[in-house]
Amino acid sequence: MTEKIKPARVQSAGKVSPKMNSRLNEISKLTKKELKARSRKFSKKYCVGDGDKFSLDKYRTDPDIDLGPEDKPQMKQTLQVGVEALAEMQNILYAHDRWSLLLIFQAMDAAGKDGAIKHVMSGVNPQGCQVTAFKAPNAEELDHDFLWRCQKQLPERGRIGIFNRSYYEEVLVVRVHEQILKAQKLPEKLVTEDIWQERFKDIRNFEKYLYRNGTKVIKFFLNVSKKEQKKRFIERIDNPEKNWKFSAADAKERTFWKDYMKAYEEMIRKTSTKESPWYVVPADNKSFARIVIASAVINALDELHLEYPKVGKEKIAELQAIKQILMDEK
Ligand code: ATP
Ligand code: MG
Repeated sequence: MTEKIKPARVQSAGKVSPKMNSRLNEISKLTKKELKARSRKFSKKYCVGDGDKFSLDKYRTDPDIDLGPEDKPQMKQTLQVGVEALAEMQNILYAHDRWSLLLIFQAMDAAGKDGAIKHVMSGVNPQGCQVTAFKAPNAEELDHDFLWRCQKQLPERGRIGIFNRSYYEEVLVVRVHEQILKAQKLPEKLVTEDIWQERFKDIRNFEKYLYRNGTKVIKFFLNVSKKEQKKRFIERIDNPEKNWKFSAADAKERTFWKDYMKAYEEMIRKTSTKESPWYVVPADNKSFARIVIASAVINALDELHLEYPKVGKEKIAELQAIKQILMDEK
């Protein structure tokens, strides 16, 4: 079941969709306030909020508007408008220096996490942003609790942190493959059938704790279809420049698709909250997915009501005095 009915495609290849074109013209003329309001409205459709009643089959993997390759340049420009707004908001986040924002990306292979991170954050000052990719844990990491390695990478106040995979792998790949849990060196009596519910609870509490200390967490599940993943895998095999991106392990993981979807669904149901929501991003169209993500990030920053620190009268007088000295310089 999907939420919306996709209209029949009427555009002929090579033409620019008038619908998309007029949307773009509109977007580039918006004031900052209007752009933020638009981002809120647009991203809301993909925001799960309180996860209690979440069901994955209500969310599409493809965009709910009719898009073709001819719309790509317009979509790029739309994203550019978002990226510029985001860059400015990040400057204010940095100057305000109270909040930090953590963006978590989870997805099946080839869903476009890396590209989304690269494009959406392309305008952001690298000094105010840190990306961490989490692979299978090493021996040192396995000697600690499962949040340990992620805690070390949390963003400082005023920064945006990005997790490319995260502690959520602990209820995804670890749940799908029993042997990974067995290798985690946990005391035997703690590994019961309740372990997944316990981990959901630990994650919820952890994110609540972070929020109470000034770190807002938002999570993105890039929802790609199995069919689109196959297409991207074949592309990675056929295109020598993309060969490095493909591994046989990726194709093997694909055979566990149903188990993964079940695990994703329960994870979102149990860990999406109003303060730290999951976004289920339609990921079959990469450009569209990036616009959804940019809108959600703009909205998250907007909700923090950030502003440049206000300077007191004394400081203003001091600045004016220094300016005078500079002006008088010969
Ligand atoms: P790419 O798009 O380049 O494939 P990737 O994020 O898939 O990016 P990989 O190096 O292919 O990067 O995969 C990382 C692997 O590490 C994934 O298969 C993931 O499931 C696994 N992993 C991450 N965290 C854990 C964990 N806590 N326990 C076990 N495996 C993990
Ligand atoms: Mg991979």
